[in-house]
Amino acid sequence: MSEETAVLALCGNPNVGKSTLFNALTGLRQHTGNWPGKTVGLAEGECRHGERSYRIVDLPGTYSLFAHSKEEEIARDFIEAKNADAAIVICDATCLERGLNLAMQVMSRGGRTVICVNLMDEAEKRGISVDIAELERLMGVPAAGISARGETGLDGLFEAIERALDTPEADKCDNICTGCADCPHKAFCIAENIVRACVEKRRSTGDEKQLKIDKVLTGKYTAIPIMLILLAIVFYITLEGANYPSQWLSALLFRLEKPIHSALCAIGLPEVITAAVSKGAYRVLAWVVSVMLPPMAIFFPLFTFLEELGYLPRAAFNMDNAFKKSGACGKQALTMLMGLGCNAAAAVGCRIIDSPRERIIALVTNCFMPCNGRFPALIAVLSMFFAFSGALGGIGAALLLTGLIVLGVLATLLSSRLLSITILKGQRSSFTLELPPFRAPRIGRLIVRSVLDRTLFVLGRAAAVAAPAGLIIYILANVSINGATLLSICTELLEPVGRVIGLDGTILISFVLGFPANEIVLPIAIMAYTASGSLESLPALNDMRELLVMHGWSIKTAVCFLIFCLMHWPCSTTLMTIKKETGSIKWTLLAFALPTVLGFVMCLAANMIMTAVGL
Ligand code: GDP
Repeated sequence: MSEETAVLALCGNPNVGKSTLFNALTGLRQHTGNWPGKTVGLAEGECRHGERSYRIVDLPGTYSLFAHSKEEEIARDFIEAKNADAAIVICDATCLERGLNLAMQVMSRGGRTVICVNLMDEAEKRGISVDIAELERLMGVPAAGISARGETGLDGLFEAIERALDTPEADKCDNICTGCADCPHKAFCIAENIVRACVEKRRSTGDEKQLKIDKVLTGKYTAIPIMLILLAIVFYITLEGANYPSQWLSALLFRLEKPIHSALCAIGLPEVITAAVSKGAYRVLAWVVSVMLPPMAIFFPLFTFLEELGYLPRAAFNMDNAFKKSGACGKQALTMLMGLGCNAAAAVGCRIIDSPRERIIALVTNCFMPCNGRFPALIAVLSMFFAFSGALGGIGAALLLTGLIVLGVLATLLSSRLLSITILKGQRSSFTLELPPFRAPRIGRLIVRSVLDRTLFVLGRAAAVAAPAGLIIYILANVSINGATLLSICTELLEPVGRVIGLDGTILISFVLGFPANEIVLPIAIMAYTASGSLESLPALNDMRELLVMHGWSIKTAVCFLIFCLMHWPCSTTLMTIKKETGSIKWTLLAFALPTVLGFVMCLAANMIMTAVGL
């Protein structure tokens, strides 16, 4: 092996700490979480150790190389193509056997293999010790024991890697697991025997405690109530915590508008441009930032906390039965939860579902989960129209938001069922969802990660769309034909349709113009309602409520808005991702039509019922 950059492929079962090791080695940021199937593409980074430099490729987590799913295909193809100088198979020290099975499959493809036993710290806590030297002897390839999270044992890992690189590549060996004649490990090839020989388990109090907790968290009668309570708590903290920072931020950002306008005038730009930039682009941008940033900065760390703790796979486990009954795959519960963060990211996450039929069901129903772009509008309307006074106010709003999510889940299950008995008929595939051990999240890191990876990412995307959208809306609201502005012409056109479903033309046009990013729907509506064609100032929630009521909003409008916000076409990024993932216009159109039709039907029904009872 030459001294040039060596390519190392990290492979392993999901949730064994691959991303953590990748980050520790390369210093790159890659999101880690207690969540099977997170790494669905290839991440690459560089690192140096001693004289050698390495290029590290993080493959998606797989249980085997038999390629049932897209991720397994990616990992298998990469290894088969011998793209790496050595494959590092990362195993979980607390359940070594499963990792070794994968290691044997990797070894059977030939090339160089290193076995890296991670989570040694957790194994020790649970009374498990792994004899690495014995493991190395029995497997016949270099091995090392590490704790990626604490970054311990990495020198030993590099030493094992160097030893592997200094040996010639092994040939392909088809029957490595049955002990072929020239197999170096003969009858000891079976993972179970190897584990028996090199793993010692002393006590299991930790396991028992975990089992007890799991009995409650996934129990028949306790699972769903606990899930709902946790969700309500997360929303309560988000709603209550975001209120004041939102107001401070909006006051601050709007104070900057005049100086920006003056600065633009000072450099000699014509009034029409300075007004469009400051009253159009900047105002919408300021609105989006002040309304979105605080709830996201609270919601994402809380969500990441549950994810890191290991609760989310349990939530998916609890939903498994419901998805089974809907003719879909239980893993869809995971992709559905991912949708709470971002529907486009969840669409990529659907790769964890093996069966193409079930993957399409998951893809086209994902946007029933409101992403973070839609949360601020939901939260704002809930707080404006359903805020109860006193200490119970926040709790009421949090419960309503939880109710909306439950409605989204029901819509997901119902439409999955509908699809699986009509155009997407077929057998249900079976799968095993592994419940990872609970792991104490590291709070500092968690906050940094959720702020950098998620909050700023989503905010950046929203801001990138908000400024140009603000400009376009300003133009629509200020360019007139025969005395009527373009915006009012569109609004009037949509008015009859809007009225039928309990909304109005302005709200509908806002949803249409919000196609690039849902977070700008409410700012557009506010801007369209203000006669001047730009936001007069950023209204505080109370003034905003008055403005909306002045334009005919009632409890009925608010309810229909909430339903439509939950159920309408996905944003352009999500649709583009679905097109990319399915390669089909047909399924992309279905993903567009399904929530839209359901949204219209639900709003129509809600409107009729509320009108009948006199609301
Ligand atoms: P991947 O799915 O294989 O990429 O796994 P991740 O890197 O996302 O790790 C899954 C979980 O295991 C995360 O909560 C990590 O913080 C945790 N983890 C990773 N390595 C270690 C380790 O060495 N010790 C402990 N205690 N936890 C770890």
